[in-house]
Amino acid sequence: MSHVLHRSLEATLPTAVGGEGNFLIDHTGKRYLDACGGAAVSCLGHDNARVRSAIKAQIDRIAFAHTSFFTNEPAEELASFLVARAPEGTGKGRVMYLGSGSEAMEAALKLARQYHLERGEAARTRIIARAPSYHGNTLGALATGGHAGRRAPFQPLLLEVNHIDAAYEYRMRKDGESEANFARRMADLLDRRIRELGPDTVMAFVAEPVVGASLGTQPAPDGYFKLIREICDNHGVLFIADEVMCGMGRTGSLFALEQEGIAADITTLAKGLGAGFQPIAAVMAAENVVAAIQKGSGLLWNGHTYMSHAVATAGALAVQKVIEDENLLENVLARGEQLRDALNARFRQQPNIGDIRGRGLFWTLELVQDKASKAPFPAAASLSQKIQKAALDLGLMCYPAQGCADGTNGDHVLLAPSYTSTPDQITLIVDLLAQAIETVLGGLEK
Ligand code: PLP
Repeated sequence: MSHVLHRSLEATLPTAVGGEGNFLIDHTGKRYLDACGGAAVSCLGHDNARVRSAIKAQIDRIAFAHTSFFTNEPAEELASFLVARAPEGTGKGRVMYLGSGSEAMEAALKLARQYHLERGEAARTRIIARAPSYHGNTLGALATGGHAGRRAPFQPLLLEVNHIDAAYEYRMRKDGESEANFARRMADLLDRRIRELGPDTVMAFVAEPVVGASLGTQPAPDGYFKLIREICDNHGVLFIADEVMCGMGRTGSLFALEQEGIAADITTLAKGLGAGFQPIAAVMAAENVVAAIQKGSGLLWNGHTYMSHAVATAGALAVQKVIEDENLLENVLARGEQLRDALNARFRQQPNIGDIRGRGLFWTLELVQDKASKAPFPAAASLSQKIQKAALDLGLMCYPAQGCADGTNGDHVLLAPSYTSTPDQITLIVDLLAQAIETVLGGLEK
């Protein structure tokens, strides 16, 4: 009997005992091709030698020195590395390190509040985010997220956050509507909401540049984020980009927002930052945010014991250098095109695949009961979980989720393969996923 409080108290999980490239190996010796990086984390596979040796070397030097007394070399070098590559407009930004994406979101919200207080705008307390979205599981991050199912049990504990619709092309774009008009219509929702709430009371707008788990790798329509940037600037509202899942190369550029031609005021990073070798997340504050604090108190009103942990930052620095030195973003783009084409060739005509969407090595199949009406399968059918199980039986890891259609119903299967994926591995992912989906849908028809 396990004494670990697992996600499911009923499930008997295999024990992971090893990793070989993009495969995980369990205690029976079974190998699993990791097509989702767990949850879009393991972007360099599971045994990268350079990252492992950087982590070991840092442990032998210094593991932990509290940030109220010291800084450390890898934390400094990684911050300079990230700021130098951040989207134009970030300026002389600064980076704060945390242990998880949720912690980073909490810290980002607090930083936004501090920015306004430092500038004497104490009335700015309101947060606007989008639905669907997922920003983490701690209370502030959960309140910010727009995922009805995850929020429901904790609703009485959540701070009030305003949600506007995410730009969910498959279900929100009207027949015949141009991409530019769709982008304008969805961005106008923000402008309208800020005006309704009172522009002087709004602190921040939070969005994932490419929506991850809650909506399934949904990029925004062209021009949407430029409009969002303008609206935020017009009203003095900070834009917080949650790049926890979509950042650090996952969509083919180091920062997902690079492809939108804008910079955020505050950016959160996590999964691809450390690639799972160490738990690490970061908040990047652009120059305007840093300057407000410098002109004000000069102090960061946030702190955690393990901030800037030297082993975590050394691991993440090595991950980022591997991605850059080995030109892995080129591979993300090339293998991403291969994956997009293979998914379309295999699934586009499939009667239960409603949508295929994504960018870079970040792709999703959305399943529907009926293609014409886009009716989702009922959540109780647990379709995506069944597909995950069938795929695991075949030795493939994919990431299932529910709730994209209305917060509760709507199944999708998300793929986030390693940046080191080979052409053969991409082919294998699509073959095995097709088998898994056929097994599950075939079973439903009986
Ligand atoms: N933000 C986004 C976009 C995420 O996808 C996640 C996790 O999946 C989080 C925040 C929270 O990160 P963590 O699970 O590390 O707390």
